Amino acid sequence: MPQPLQPHIVDPAASRDFAASVVSRLRSAGHEAYWAGGCVRDELLGRTPADYDVATDAPPEIVRNLFGRRRTLAIGAAFGVITVLGPKSAGQVEVATFRADVGYTDGRHPTEVIFCSAREDARRRDFTINGLFLDPLTGAVHDFVGGREDLAAGIVRAIGPPAMRFGEDHLRMLRAVRFAATFGFAIERDTRLAIERMAHLVVAVSPERIAAELRGMTSGGGRRLALELLEETGLAREVLPEVAPADEAGRRTWRELASIVAAIDEPSLPQALALLVMPGQERSLAAIATRLRLSTFEAKAARWLHAGLESLGEAADLERRPWSTVQPWAADTRGPLLADLLRARAACGRGDAEAAAWFTRQVERPRHEIDPTPILTGDDLLAAGMPAGPAIGEVLVRIRTLQLDGRLTTKEEALAAVREGG
Ligand code: ATP
Ligand code: MG
Repeated sequence: MPQPLQPHIVDPAASRDFAASVVSRLRSAGHEAYWAGGCVRDELLGRTPADYDVATDAPPEIVRNLFGRRRTLAIGAAFGVITVLGPKSAGQVEVATFRADVGYTDGRHPTEVIFCSAREDARRRDFTINGLFLDPLTGAVHDFVGGREDLAAGIVRAIGPPAMRFGEDHLRMLRAVRFAATFGFAIERDTRLAIERMAHLVVAVSPERIAAELRGMTSGGGRRLALELLEETGLAREVLPEVAPADEAGRRTWRELASIVAAIDEPSLPQALALLVMPGQERSLAAIATRLRLSTFEAKAARWLHAGLESLGEAADLERRPWSTVQPWAADTRGPLLADLLRARAACGRGDAEAAAWFTRQVERPRHEIDPTPILTGDDLLAAGMPAGPAIGEVLVRIRTLQLDGRLTTKEEALAAVREGG
């Protein structure tokens, strides 16, 4: 997945032109060079590549000299990868010397790379659809692995013996699911059987990488298929044991939840987790967030959305509830995401559609209406002679509730209520 070092807004056309110019430059210097991997797959599928990778027979030092030290980064040089920086709007291109990866020992990283031919470079890649080369100057495709056929047929197939390839790098099992889901492809039978047999090994992959794959799977268009495949292959049991189904009833629920996740307008990992974790199971959610090392932002969002669903999700009578109990959900910056979840659930027959629509309307009201300026502040209370201390906060909360519920409208009324209520 793309991990841009230059987080500028990249213009797809500029980025494509730059990636072609990199190939052209290498070619002029007498080297073999092609676009390689995911960008070729995306081009042939008519999708806009997120980023471009170039593969070449030029060794890293030559690549650096050709594009200049100032325009290159050598972070991946040990693996033969030089990053070539383009104009701001074009982003960057990874230029990788044709290589074979050898000596996988930890289920994730090769211990050594050997520079080699394009044909051999294709064979170290994970899936046939990711093993293609494209000459952007002529449009010619170089296919050493049968990738074109699989791309046309919609098949994710490991290059070489699947068990060996997944044994080298366990992350590939999650990548297989993500690609199948993203493109609506089938996972080839032997490739899939190998995943089913080896799913338990995926726990050796770093939590960050697992989380990155889950992010990709749950935020893309194929998220329903991704969740179904995770479950069917046994990967869900490994990467999300807290929520993975254990029996047939659980599997039915999982499929139902997958269809709700598919109905979300603004999908993300926190949104999906808030739905997948059953009500009352916030400890599972916390466990998932910790294990996968989710960002604080994601973990908080997931927890908040989960609590929001618990509080509002089953209510058909939202409208009749005291506004002060609904307002904190509606006024929060994440209110629109919660509205999205309620709507998606209702669309799949869970929870009340009217209530979800009503909540959405509340979230959309003008700011000053859903979150009016407090009629009473701490300073007001101090000025009225109340001693500083935690009691001030408690009083403010009580007054805020009464204000939101329309039972107090002015500062004077509020102060009077404080005096009476003690
Ligand atoms: P996307 O960027 O859309 O997630 P991608 O296929 O471009 O998909 P990247 O992670 O950007 O994926 O990798 C680029 C290419 O490098 C892949 O297409 C594949 O050829 C090769 N590759 C990436 N990760 C692996 C891996 N774990 N094992 C083998 N080859 C890999
Ligand atoms: Mg990529």
